[in-house]
Amino acid sequence: MKIKELMDRVLFALSVPKCTCCKSKLDYGQKALCLKCSSVFEDFKSRNCSLCAKPLDKCSCSNEFLRAHYVRRVIKCYRYLDRKEASAGNTLIYSLKRDNRQDVLDACADLLCKAISNSVDNPADCVFINVPRRKSAIVKYGIDQSALLAKEVAKRFGARYIPLLASKAKLAQKSLETADRFKNAQFYITKNIDLTGKRVIIVDDIITTGASVGKAAALVRSLGCKDITAAALAIAYKDS
Ligand SMILES: [Zn+2]
Ligand SMILES: [Zn+2]
Repeated sequence: MKIKELMDRVLFALSVPKCTCCKSKLDYGQKALCLKCSSVFEDFKSRNCSLCAKPLDKCSCSNEFLRAHYVRRVIKCYRYLDRKEASAGNTLIYSLKRDNRQDVLDACADLLCKAISNSVDNPADCVFINVPRRKSAIVKYGIDQSALLAKEVAKRFGARYIPLLASKAKLAQKSLETADRFKNAQFYITKNIDLTGKRVIIVDDIITTGASVGKAAALVRSLGCKDITAAALAIAYKDS
């Protein structure tokens, strides 16, 4: 056994990682979900988009609201649903938001990279940014999960990641109705960057109504980019 693998195994054992869904102890090499929960998750996420009939991770359908906010494509891996069979996917997102676990980030990046590769030509040429987390949430959890995900995905494609936006939202989006979410999602540009002619991919963990991604897209567009794609692990809105 190589020293690196030995170290990895020791670190893995010390960290005592648990399945994000059923909380059973993971075996070495498993990321985020145990075998049983992964297999339920595989069945669940193989559902098709009701608009284009493709599996969700091969579909890039946007919706009317997001198209009106310059988001031409929406890449997603699965659907966020308040149902038992959806709990593996849901807990993956909860853990990504709170736990700062490398195996969870890896599992999420695996899913998102695959879905992006299915729908975007030459992702290496795209610029990756993220929908920013509220400052008070970053302080509370110590991480901006969408920033970590965007950075990891960009790294794997050999593409550029820019921490371009920051949030000045006062309230958590989940506490609000759709119309109020759009008002509450207040972001600002932190860097003076020219994106003329660039294709931009805006990464978020979940697109619930599209209000946050829509606001982010409008700001990014003001920097001259030619094409905006949103990429999230899950969508919570209805297709049609
Ligand atoms: Zn499990
Ligand atoms: Zn579709």
